[in-house]
Amino acid sequence: SAGAPAAAPSGDPATERAALGAALDAVADDLAALREGAAAATADILDAQALALADTELMGAAHAAIDGGRSAARAWHDAVDAAAAAYDGLDDEYLRARAADLRDLGRRVVARLAGDATAGDGAPAVLVAEDLGAAEVAELDPARVRALATAAGGPTSHASIIARGLGIPAVAGLGASALAIPDGTMLIVDGGAGTVDVAPGAEAVAAHEARAREDAAREARARERSGEPAVTADGRHVEVAANIGGPGDVAAAVAAGADGVGLLRSEFLFLERAEPPSEDEQAAAYAEAARAFGGRRVVVRTLDAGADKPLRYLPRAAEANPFLGVRGLRLALEHPEALRTQLRAALRAAAAGPIGIMFPMVSEVDELRRARAALDEAREALAREGVEAPAVEVGAMVEVPAAAIMAEELAAEADFLSIGTNDLTQYVMAAERGNAGVARLSDPVHPAVLRLIAGVARAGRAGGARVAVCGEAASDPAAVPLLVGMGVGELSVAPRRVPLVKAQVRGLDADAAGALADRAMGLEGAAEVRALVASEAPPA
Ligand code: PEP
Ligand code: MG
Repeated sequence: SAGAPAAAPSGDPATERAALGAALDAVADDLAALREGAAAATADILDAQALALADTELMGAAHAAIDGGRSAARAWHDAVDAAAAAYDGLDDEYLRARAADLRDLGRRVVARLAGDATAGDGAPAVLVAEDLGAAEVAELDPARVRALATAAGGPTSHASIIARGLGIPAVAGLGASALAIPDGTMLIVDGGAGTVDVAPGAEAVAAHEARAREDAAREARARERSGEPAVTADGRHVEVAANIGGPGDVAAAVAAGADGVGLLRSEFLFLERAEPPSEDEQAAAYAEAARAFGGRRVVVRTLDAGADKPLRYLPRAAEANPFLGVRGLRLALEHPEALRTQLRAALRAAAAGPIGIMFPMVSEVDELRRARAALDEAREALAREGVEAPAVEVGAMVEVPAAAIMAEELAAEADFLSIGTNDLTQYVMAAERGNAGVARLSDPVHPAVLRLIAGVARAGRAGGARVAVCGEAASDPAAVPLLVGMGVGELSVAPRRVPLVKAQVRGLDADAAGALADRAMGLEGAAEVRALVASEAPPA
């Protein structure tokens, strides 16, 4: 958690105008770089965005707001939002898409202002925004952004996950009132509790600082033993692996003592670019991770695009419900050439160290079979070219309720199952992960979700497939004892959480955790489960 003034503290209007100008120039350069080699459809969008950057009306509105005391970021955000709102209600799909492009442009500029120390007085601050895309969060500078608070989104939205990965406490789904917080207001952002305290009193600040010191001390203690395996008090070994969301995460994960990589989100290679990465580029990225882990397994997840992770170069027809649409493995099976390239790259990387390949959003056994067939074909094609790829483990993500219910059949076709609790919770509870209005329902320790997870763990044991959890629940202190108690063998978590999760596992008794999980599954709701765990198994 972090306490700091709300971003961006506005300087005098001249400073803010200059900061805005610099950010607009920088974004213009970014767009020009993206434009190079972009496919025609993408180039059109980038051209339209470049034009909007120079739009005198937008600039006039932003300058007027700055002169009225707004920060550069707030002024630009509001100006763009007003312009985009004018397109929103229109029937024409093309114009509605323009609104989205405008907002994207607005966020690019705000992210620049936040990432560069050009806005305000340059002091670290809390960034308050309507919402940010995953790629924009990835560009934030943790030295500058002490915490992130957004009006929209949810705790397991990709923006929140990436922010936490960067060590930026993030609270999402605060509602529109967050945007009315005046610049320069002191905020306490508690990422763990999901709360933002606006203009706290001296006592609250002192309590917060004491808690932050305790957290830091606990983390430091956990880091001292992070290189050792995580074994429960009664001797059960639980692998604590890392989720890798970008190139910078590899070194952080190794340093944090991760027992390998349980989820390499390959999306980072694909998003925010005009053309897909080549086979060589992908092979190099996967091999680098494998080498860094020196003999420990690295699980590459094939591209999980669609829904909240759209690709510029695979434009798709609009979907009324993208999370229920063509995403993940569904999209990959529709684009066999892209899947083939990725599978070849992962197989080639296996020469550098043990690689696992897992497929996201598996709904049916047949999909997994088709994916495995594509992998076999890629292996045979490589062999014909004289490249003998080492064996790889093949896994299915379990994040669709149908897959959890059919886990036994899936386990028969897979070496491992990896439970994606973020999506599994969203689909079980019918509560979109980025929708602030249903955040209360979207809790992975709800007994409905827990019962499915327990079933997957059982099916894995029966079918000889190891079972991992790679959703955010794997590092949720309330969920860890339950997952270990159910017999989950691997928890894959954000690199900086590895030491803490290992420490918590060491403090558990697996049998007692099993009994606790049984009791939790008999309760009515997530709140009761959290209360039970808090009373029985306080975190390490
Ligand atoms: C999940 O859904 O839990 C998961 C790990 O995948 P992602 O968060 O990338 O959708
Ligand atoms: Mg998922």
